[in-house]
Amino acid sequence: MTNPSSGVPRYTGLIDRYRDRLPLQPGTRAVSLGEGDTPLIQLTDIPLLRDREVLLYVKYEGLNPTASFKDRGMTVAVTKAVEDGSRAVICASTGNTSASAAAYAARAGMTAFVLIPEGKIALGKLAQAMMHGALVIQIKGNFDAGMALVKKIADEAPVTLVNSVNPYRLQGQKTAAFEIIEQLGDVPDYHCLPVGNAGNITAHWIGYCEYSCAPGDETTDACAYCQGNCALLADKVVADRPKMLGYQATGAAPFLRGEMLDHPETIATAIRIGRPQSWDQAWSASRESQGWFDELTDDEILVAQKLLAEGEGIFCEPASAISVAGAMRDIERGKIEPGSRVVCTLTGHGLKDPDTAIQQSTAPITVEAEMDAVNEVILQNMK
Ligand SMILES: *Cc1c(COP(=O)(O)O)cnc(C)c1O
Repeated sequence: MTNPSSGVPRYTGLIDRYRDRLPLQPGTRAVSLGEGDTPLIQLTDIPLLRDREVLLYVKYEGLNPTASFKDRGMTVAVTKAVEDGSRAVICASTGNTSASAAAYAARAGMTAFVLIPEGKIALGKLAQAMMHGALVIQIKGNFDAGMALVKKIADEAPVTLVNSVNPYRLQGQKTAAFEIIEQLGDVPDYHCLPVGNAGNITAHWIGYCEYSCAPGDETTDACAYCQGNCALLADKVVADRPKMLGYQATGAAPFLRGEMLDHPETIATAIRIGRPQSWDQAWSASRESQGWFDELTDDEILVAQKLLAEGEGIFCEPASAISVAGAMRDIERGKIEPGSRVVCTLTGHGLKDPDTAIQQSTAPITVEAEMDAVNEVILQNMK
């Protein structure tokens, strides 16, 4: 449909936009809420970036329909589930997958079953899953325990598993890399992401490989990812790929320890995962891109979250802020060279986790409803 005043087609979601690179039947109608097409915002308030002449952009995935990047994968996974005749979806979740699955299932007229760790899910995410009418099952265990359960259930019951082990999730999520290349007009030098289950870093790597692959490139490792999609478009979009940098919270950092963990802990509940499902794929992305993994403490995560909110006007959830915390430290240390172009994915919106936001902010000031009282406070606090 075209807007009569501008002639610009109405944006109708990432399946319509990237259908020629997604594994769907030609006639299948997208189950979409208009996901994707999120802004790429340059950070402008941080002196370190000016000193090092680093251009740092954030891809604000919190502006997706359910306020996290999970919608990119969910639109494709649920569209495919409908195409296959499925009537129910199931997932384990630290919160955002359940919110997204619940919304897209509602949109498709399907049932959503979601398993969440009792007491360890941010309030906004729980509200979303409940409000969209999912059947919410709290387990007395963590995400990894829930993941093991839903894999078994989906093997036996007629429900479609929509965690990122579902390959259509990653296919949808790869479109974030396409958008970044289109928005920048080129590839960034570095791409920084929080790593939990490691699906998203894997999906971005697939996307970057696809856009740097062309027919005739069959000998390159990029080609191993693009599954022939490049042949549809005949030419590579860009020549290079970024280095992929994955950041984990110190208490939940299996990639730093080199092995799976049993008791992950971090305030960033979205990445409170000890047994990443895309373990091998994420190691490949890191190695092939010549990137690295690193870890940050909960305090460092919260400092970055506050810096983004107060200094730049961008409110993301704690897990998202680790990408900026990690990038800033690596810029400071010179691991990311001066003059680099860096993209950090802000995976989810800050409103997801109001408790953490309120705890680290100054409490409101209460005064009488009188001019004098209000004026006094204003004069004392003028910047
Ligand atoms: C799911 C999620 C992550 C982690 O992504 P993985 O693909 O599991 O590595 C990070 N941040 C937020 C906000 C998320 O919802």
